[in-house]
Amino acid sequence: MSPNCTYYDELETASRKKRVEYHDDRLRSIVAHAYVNAPAFRAKMEVAGTLPSDIKSIDDLNKIPITSKEDLLKLQKTYPPFGGFVTVPIRQLKAVCMSPGPIYTTPGNDETYFRRVERSYFGCGLRPGDILLNTFSYHISPMGLLLDTNLKRFGATVIPMGGGNKQLQVQVIHDLKVTVFTGTASFLLDILQTAEALGYNPKKDFDLRLAITPLDHGLMKVIERDYGIRVTEFYGTADVGIVAYNCEERSGMHVCEDVILEIVDLNGDDRLEAGKVGKVVITTLDKTVPFIRYSPGDLSSWDDGDCPCGRTSQKLNPISGWIGEAVKARGMFIHPSQLSSIVSKFAGIGRYQLVCGSVNNKDHLALNYEMKGASSNREEMEESCRISFRDICRLNLDKITCVPGGTLSAEGKEIVDERKNASG
Ligand SMILES: [Zn+2]
Repeated sequence: MSPNCTYYDELETASRKKRVEYHDDRLRSIVAHAYVNAPAFRAKMEVAGTLPSDIKSIDDLNKIPITSKEDLLKLQKTYPPFGGFVTVPIRQLKAVCMSPGPIYTTPGNDETYFRRVERSYFGCGLRPGDILLNTFSYHISPMGLLLDTNLKRFGATVIPMGGGNKQLQVQVIHDLKVTVFTGTASFLLDILQTAEALGYNPKKDFDLRLAITPLDHGLMKVIERDYGIRVTEFYGTADVGIVAYNCEERSGMHVCEDVILEIVDLNGDDRLEAGKVGKVVITTLDKTVPFIRYSPGDLSSWDDGDCPCGRTSQKLNPISGWIGEAVKARGMFIHPSQLSSIVSKFAGIGRYQLVCGSVNNKDHLALNYEMKGASSNREEMEESCRISFRDICRLNLDKITCVPGGTLSAEGKEIVDERKNASG
């Protein structure tokens, strides 16, 4: 164990036996609650012929069918607005967000949810008294707002910047002596490069010691090497919140105590042993929004080795890919169905293909399309297409190009991922 280890609470160093008992207890209670109060969960159990009394421990989880992100999209039409997984009326919720998909999500009201945010940021290195630049979005997608509420409570001073405004971000980091950045690693790199262009030397002129970011493509090394800022990562989704986080050792992400993580095989949904790659399946032990066996579409493996930090939780390895045709860029999924709904609005666009590449270690999104018929105002159409892409996918297109007719094959994929290491 590292000599200077501190923990968010004693659950993090509980024996494995104690952890299993905690998970089994909470699971029984959450399943019984969800069966009565979450109609979609009850319907799922009825189809599988499973009763709450059949779920005695985490070993019984495979009696509950998995819900995928696509299932959730469909269920939100059957059980609006939350798909039948929220157990209280909307008036009792503290906040409702619209996440990419688009789907409606809520952090719910549970202490367990909020504790996951605090626990993961503490594990990543945030401490009370830190001055935190929060560059996650404060509207629509929930991340910025949720962090804000919880990390203020935790004792950090939060600066609500959201995305964009790179020059202002530089000024704020300098003037307010920001110690911790949170947001995407690619945005931090943009800010640091902007700072250099403005004449700052980030190593000397800034107090920034730590960046806490969602999993990214190897930018961690670039930022640490070039700017001396330590980077720690977490894994989570807009639907379920934060699931796992890096500790100071960064040897796999510790799974938060109020989450049960399974890695299951792609066909049979059987739980896989440590080290084998399969679908990430998450069960959150929250009462308001009990996600029980939810698959966000990520592929990874888990690790049961001891961590030198002293935490005893299971660890999640980096995301190694995604299920189906979706790709992930700058931390967000892009599904072919989203792309098709964008492009279908424009009569002038025929065949199209989104190319996800990497430029200077950053994800680069280029949409190529063929014209259909004559369009007098191509620029206007492309601008509308950019806006629609940003609204639906929550990402900016880097490039949109009209290619000659016949360039794109009718059988070609709608989304192509050209990155060497397309992982999470
Ligand atoms: Zn650790």
